[in-house]
Amino acid sequence: MTNLNDAYINGLLQAAANIPDNDIENILAKAANFQGLTHQEAAALLMTQNEAYINHTFEIAGKIKKHIYGDRIVIFAPLYVSDHCINRCTYCGFRHDSGIARRKLTQDEIRAEVAVLEKMGHKRLAIEAGEDPSNCPLDYILECIDTIYNMKFENGEIRRVNINIAASSVKDYRRLKDAHIGTYILFQETYHRPTYEKVHPTGPKSDYDYHLTAFDRAMEAGIDDVGAGALFGLYDYKYETLALMLHNEHLENHFGVGFHTISVPRIRSTDGVSKYPHAVSDKDFLRLVAILRMAVPFTGMIVSSRETPEMRRQLIQIGISQMSAGSRTAVGGYSGLANAAQFSIADHRDAQEIIYWLMEEGTLPSFCTACYRQGRSGDRFMTLAKSGDIKNVCLPNGLLTLKEYALDYGDDRFSVLADALISKKLADIDSENTRHLIESKLIDLSHGKRDLFI
Ligand code: SF4
Ligand code: SF4
Repeated sequence: MTNLNDAYINGLLQAAANIPDNDIENILAKAANFQGLTHQEAAALLMTQNEAYINHTFEIAGKIKKHIYGDRIVIFAPLYVSDHCINRCTYCGFRHDSGIARRKLTQDEIRAEVAVLEKMGHKRLAIEAGEDPSNCPLDYILECIDTIYNMKFENGEIRRVNINIAASSVKDYRRLKDAHIGTYILFQETYHRPTYEKVHPTGPKSDYDYHLTAFDRAMEAGIDDVGAGALFGLYDYKYETLALMLHNEHLENHFGVGFHTISVPRIRSTDGVSKYPHAVSDKDFLRLVAILRMAVPFTGMIVSSRETPEMRRQLIQIGISQMSAGSRTAVGGYSGLANAAQFSIADHRDAQEIIYWLMEEGTLPSFCTACYRQGRSGDRFMTLAKSGDIKNVCLPNGLLTLKEYALDYGDDRFSVLADALISKKLADIDSENTRHLIESKLIDLSHGKRDLFI
């Protein structure tokens, strides 16, 4: 990754500080045309102090979000299966020396957790586990995946299992690929090497280069949906934003496809700002999300329950396309076995409250897993996304999943609200044929069919 280094990124930021206004206007015009941004252009937007341009950034990001993704937000939940960890990431409640009592869920306990998540209506989970090859080997993770995919409920099941586990070898990634995972998720946390080394003092994760090249090995193993992220606040957010872009470009250049998703976890003031001199203010956080949305318009963006409801509302407007709902960040957190949490959350609403809230905001909560099930991953997904047609499948599929949710998990009040939203959004489907197809599938759902998608 030739450009992903301190000298290059600092040089970009320095050069961008003197970009003339005229050039910034051209950059904004290019982004508004859904053409993405080069990392040089993103640097210019990150560095400008001009309030008018900053406000324009939010407007354009909002338009891109609406144009490409429509009004849908994909819903998922994390499932923490083991908090055993041999690393000492200084920002994490699971670090080796945190003194917490450790737990790894048995397969029966996994079933209990998934039963609770299924009752919330979830169809898409992200397995989370600390790194501990003795106490939490890959065989265990594979067993968890198998357990989850084999669970069937009256109407529902988990249809996509994403995996967030430690950087691994090509051989192990092949085993994950064979287990039919959805996205392989791994956050670099910080791309700034000295900071990385400071906050990851010991354990396998302290190897910056091995961690950074994990997606190369995953892609070599055939995993083509990878989800990146940085823990914003460990180092300068401008630096991290550019580094994410450079990492993405590296994968595009070498494997033909970049990140499927980017997550934007942020260290918040409750984490102790004095410990984190690079903690990101709300305004800067919104700004970096908007710039990422402009830079990589076709990459999904994910916000966790670390953010408050109000911040999540604003983030949805400018670029976020997926969010967790009803999350518990402790092993056994859904079924009351609760151990210590990995991090504290700021959105404590349960899943249904969040679904109601989204509908009342005019946003379509979606439990869609269609692309994965249709084999639209990696470059096949990106081709569809870049054609501008992705919202023509997201919207219809989102409507079907909301109807399914209303039938299986909603009460009368919920159904009235959901049906009104579905009727309204049906009119937004451009193709008459697709609209008729979805109307007929909605009737099929009312007659007991499930898991319908296009
Ligand atoms: Fe372990 Fe992950 Fe926490 Fe680091 S962030 S201590 S690897 S669980
Ligand atoms: Fe995601 Fe594909 Fe469903 Fe759209 S259609 S919400 S991109 S799975």
